[in-house]
Amino acid sequence: MAASQRKTTVAVRVGSLTIGGGAPIVVQAMTNTDTADAAATAQQIFELWQAGAELVRITVNNEEAAKAVPEIRARLDDLGCSVPLVGDFHFNGHLLLTRYPQCAKLLDKYRINPGNVGRGQKKDENFLIFCRLARDLGKAIRIGVNAGSLDPEQVTTQMQENTIKNLGLSSEEVISQCMVTSALQSLDLALNAGLGEDHIVLSCKISRPPELIRVYRQLAQRTRQPLHVGLTEAGMGRRGIVWSTAAMAVLLAEGIGDTIRVSLTPAPGGDRREEVWVACEMLQALGLRAFAPSVTACPGCGRTTSTTFQELAQRVDTYLKRQLPRWRKDFPGVEELKVAVMGCVVNGPGESKAAHIGISLPGTGEAPACPVYMDGVQVATLKGTTQELAEAFLSLVEQYVVTHFGKKEKKLTPPSP
Ligand code: SF4
Repeated sequence: MAASQRKTTVAVRVGSLTIGGGAPIVVQAMTNTDTADAAATAQQIFELWQAGAELVRITVNNEEAAKAVPEIRARLDDLGCSVPLVGDFHFNGHLLLTRYPQCAKLLDKYRINPGNVGRGQKKDENFLIFCRLARDLGKAIRIGVNAGSLDPEQVTTQMQENTIKNLGLSSEEVISQCMVTSALQSLDLALNAGLGEDHIVLSCKISRPPELIRVYRQLAQRTRQPLHVGLTEAGMGRRGIVWSTAAMAVLLAEGIGDTIRVSLTPAPGGDRREEVWVACEMLQALGLRAFAPSVTACPGCGRTTSTTFQELAQRVDTYLKRQLPRWRKDFPGVEELKVAVMGCVVNGPGESKAAHIGISLPGTGEAPACPVYMDGVQVATLKGTTQELAEAFLSLVEQYVVTHFGKKEKKLTPPSP
């Protein structure tokens, strides 16, 4: 399916957010604290929100977790954090939401895994209890199918059909089909329970990128519901980032995906916010959202034998991150700022001209002068130590922001080169 062929999805309201319907793609994260520990959970939600998460999911796996939800919400409200909360339910969600009405009321969205709501007749009964609760409280749900918890009865049936009818599908293809079938059957059940289509998000997560792409392409062709996209169990560090991006970028570039989560496994003591940073970078790299100014820097090569270029690139990056909270308030739109720090004359002037503001450092053997460009025009030539270059260039960056973004729209008159 080609990118632009996906029709605009149904819009689903979750708290103050909209998922789908052409709204900007929403960044989600999930906590890994014990939800029953309201203080720790609220603190982590707050940090994820500050890092850029627009929707945060928490496990609600037992009575203690359900009881903690009101305190978590209250703590967040006290911190001025209005981020909508999603409850992640498996096995006993219908019971917890029924027994703890405050929990049901304060969560903005419920995630239900149709493979984990019971077996046989109980499966549909429990699922319907869940949907009716959401309907009565006006809550959104995500029908979140996962390859690791597919209903075994359904898998067996579809495997047998593949054999009996000689369909020639690989076991991976049968699993993909089962996931899509499970999501769509559950969607029908939810609609029949009276939940409006503007309250239902779907997902079908699997841990292998090619299959994730196949499943979501099928799903996108067969439903107008907004889709939550993510590679499940992506793993740790570089592997998790690359595998998530490899899979999700293909789908996002095809217009598939209304909200995303990057499921990284943090190192022990690692920073949970990493998954938010990766999600934001992914959307920004694809030109789908802008969260922060970006620095284009070349990798350096034999023409950059000193460390000046790397040090300057790092200082600029650090400066932009430090200034962002203030800039966001004073200069709306500054997230779009593009800065270039380049290592030599080969690509330096070209990339610097393509950025809003860029500096091209001299490579080995070049004259020790650094042309600075604003909007494609050379406005200065800097010389000096790394410290002097950094101070002068960052002052020009600040000047550019003040004169080009937000309320103060007047344009800078470039000084003579
Ligand atoms: S711009 Fe110059 S220094 Fe940077 S990678 Fe290219 S050739 Fe090397």
